[in-house]
Amino acid sequence: MRILFVAPEGVPFSKTGGLGDVVGGLPKQLAALGHEVAVFLPRYRGTKIQPTVVHASLSVPVGRELRFPSVVGGFKQEGVRYDFLDDPEFFDREALYGGPSGDYPDNAERFAEFSRAALEYAKLVWRPDVIHCHDWQTALVPIFKQSLYAADPLLAPIPTILTIHNLGYQGLFERGVLGRVGLPESLFSIDAMEFYGRVNFLKGAILASDWLTTVSRCYAGEIQTEEYGCGLEGVIRKRANRLVGILNGVDYSAWNPETDAFILARYSAEDLSGKQVCKHNLLEEFGLPAGRLDRPVVGLISRFVDQKGFDLVVEAAEEILAEDLQIVALGAGMPVYEEFFRNLAAHYPEKVAVRVAYDNALAHKIEAGADLFLMPSRYEPCGLNQIYSLRYGTLPLVRATGGLDDTVEPYDPKTGEGTGFKFDDYTSDALVACLRQALGVWGDLAAWRRLQARAMSRDFSWRASATRYVSLYQDAQRSRIPAAAAASVDIGSGDASRASAESSRKG
Ligand code: ADP
Repeated sequence: MRILFVAPEGVPFSKTGGLGDVVGGLPKQLAALGHEVAVFLPRYRGTKIQPTVVHASLSVPVGRELRFPSVVGGFKQEGVRYDFLDDPEFFDREALYGGPSGDYPDNAERFAEFSRAALEYAKLVWRPDVIHCHDWQTALVPIFKQSLYAADPLLAPIPTILTIHNLGYQGLFERGVLGRVGLPESLFSIDAMEFYGRVNFLKGAILASDWLTTVSRCYAGEIQTEEYGCGLEGVIRKRANRLVGILNGVDYSAWNPETDAFILARYSAEDLSGKQVCKHNLLEEFGLPAGRLDRPVVGLISRFVDQKGFDLVVEAAEEILAEDLQIVALGAGMPVYEEFFRNLAAHYPEKVAVRVAYDNALAHKIEAGADLFLMPSRYEPCGLNQIYSLRYGTLPLVRATGGLDDTVEPYDPKTGEGTGFKFDDYTSDALVACLRQALGVWGDLAAWRRLQARAMSRDFSWRASATRYVSLYQDAQRSRIPAAAAASVDIGSGDASRASAESSRKG
């Protein structure tokens, strides 16, 4: 099968978060399973490639303007073809989506061009059997396809799949955006892109895509509820028979304590002595006293945003620091949390250290050197760091939500089984109680070692998840709407999703 990934970021060319990791890992695994895969990305300033021209000039209308970006790349890595949309005015910028003062004001136009160019690319450069889109930045792919391109005989038979990596980011714009990106006013309707008086790209794509996926089984259920649905729960419920949760895999060639080049000593479940060396090194690197390795180090690597549960950490800080432990934190994001950690480190210089940065090497050192990994997220579509932590024998302490719930097995005091520690209620009391439980187990070395051994044996590689995506692509192909029918279907009409769902069952 020929699978086209259209994504706003992908490792090793661009990354701001877990989405970049997925677009780095999944295509390679699909290629390893024997499929032909192409990945279409924007060429950002930080994208390090040879810009070999593949197509010198696509004609891409963006509102009233006609733009002529080129396609560059065309090379293969580990069996995957990579192409990049090259429009320096839109993408040769300091960051991917915005700077310190917020999102770039022309993000709608930038990603409208990118999405429309992806459809032209699928017609002119690399003809796929399925198109797999990711998050709001590529939401206009299924929307353009079902509206402006509905009668296109080349595109109509190609099903679209949208993966929601984080429902918290929807691409919300004022009404006038429709004209600016060249979409008809008729889409400003409750059954299409209208959302409380504004235009919502992700909503439109949830309704227009053939299939939806999200990145864990638990999150697929959560986003259908008011608590986690970010206002889109009703629309998602409407498409529930076309939604599947497929857990992200992780790249163990990059995240494995037996081979990790970033850490001072390699180690395995059989011989954990290197982990002590890493712990000592981590404390030194962070300028914390390293004389007592018998007390646990709690690690934290994250974007500093509300989603990750930092309000709980703020609330619980005094109680946490009353315990005999040390904390190392790496992250950047909201100034309020950057300031909080800086202040905490200033007040507890022997116990807390923070690095406000994005630093991959340091992230590896924390995974290896810490004993516990803290991830108390308010919501977590999948989460990668807790999965890395398992492999590094750094027991995750997580809130039971989304992918955290799917990947961490809670310690069971009766049987001693589990791979980490979990709490349910989003309260600082629940967090502190869970931490105390973990510290209780820390006091029993044999019990701790058993949990580590179990955590390190868990396998979340891409293989299983990639196989599930292949079945989905096959279902999507079988249930694709014939061109003639697609042309007469409004995006988002309940009838369209019912009709295609029925044909999928028949298939
Ligand atoms: P999200 O996508 O919500 O940020 P994930 O856990 O899915 O969260 O993925 C985060 C990815 O970004 C992981 O690979 C993690 O190691 C990395 N990361 C996050 N913050 C930092 C940081 N400050 N320095 C280095 N890596 C980071």
